[in-house]
Amino acid sequence: MDLQLKGKIVVVTGGAKGIGAACVEAFAAEGAVPIIVGRSPQDAQKLAKEIADRGGRADVIEAELSSEDACRDVIAKILERHGRIDGIVHNAGVNDGVSLRHSPADFVGSLGKNILHVFALTHYALDSLIETRGFIVNISSKVADTGQGGTSGYAASKGAMNALTREWGLDLAQYGIRVNTVSPAEVMTPLYERWMATLDEPEKFLRERSALIPLGNRFTTSEEIAAMTVFLASPVSGHTTGQIVYPDGGYTHLDRAYRPAGDS
Ligand code: NAP
Repeated sequence: MDLQLKGKIVVVTGGAKGIGAACVEAFAAEGAVPIIVGRSPQDAQKLAKEIADRGGRADVIEAELSSEDACRDVIAKILERHGRIDGIVHNAGVNDGVSLRHSPADFVGSLGKNILHVFALTHYALDSLIETRGFIVNISSKVADTGQGGTSGYAASKGAMNALTREWGLDLAQYGIRVNTVSPAEVMTPLYERWMATLDEPEKFLRERSALIPLGNRFTTSEEIAAMTVFLASPVSGHTTGQIVYPDGGYTHLDRAYRPAGDS
């Protein structure tokens, strides 16, 4: 299937690692030009070079996205270099464990890391997205639907992202801009590995958590998240907007206690 993404200028925040890097690879494989925006310029340059070596194109913009000024500058730089923006994948984020015990200032800080850049980048890119009849794909989290405990800032941010999927889907339908969200649950990425390293028995945790995922008793891969992202970005999904999709092996919505007959 031709996903009709050739030559599209696609901003991927946090595109140097994990799910973001898989999205960058997937867009490049479709002939799009992913713009890797984030804090890890060496990883990003390495990824962009690998794509170039395979005959593709990618660009890198270093930015710490928790500052509004940085978001404005990122969009200005992309427009200067590439002349337009066809889509944004809002992927950068961190489950930073800012809980009710933290200060209100810490809570605002967590929103800055997780959701304010989603608004700011979209705000500054809006005119270009209108011109290109572009797309937005957000990378949310199961935490928005189920909670996790001890992570108010992250939960609020991903909940806001899900709400903005509906709000912007409606706002932007008049311009032909589609807004959708991919909501992962358990994906082994550098972020997840860092968090697992803080546990007493990470291997035990991994075994037990995998057992709770109905489809295949395994984590979702970054590539599976990226495949859904690219599909939602593509005109092939041209009448899909305001949707939250859960490529998570059924973890968020299916009964995790169920065991097939004869297996209990
Ligand atoms: P990851 O491995 O940490 O990769 C995220 C990338 O984004 C990193 O390169 C990181 O920079 C960058 N980044 C984060 N915040 C940034 C900021 N404020 N400014 C600039 N760059 C920033 O994370 P991941 O696991 O792939 O997660 C990607 C997205 O999926 C996140 O929004 C996360 O909440 C969501 N998600 C992940 C899972 C999962 O199981 N992994 C589950 C649900 C949702 P550094 O290189 O400096 O860290």
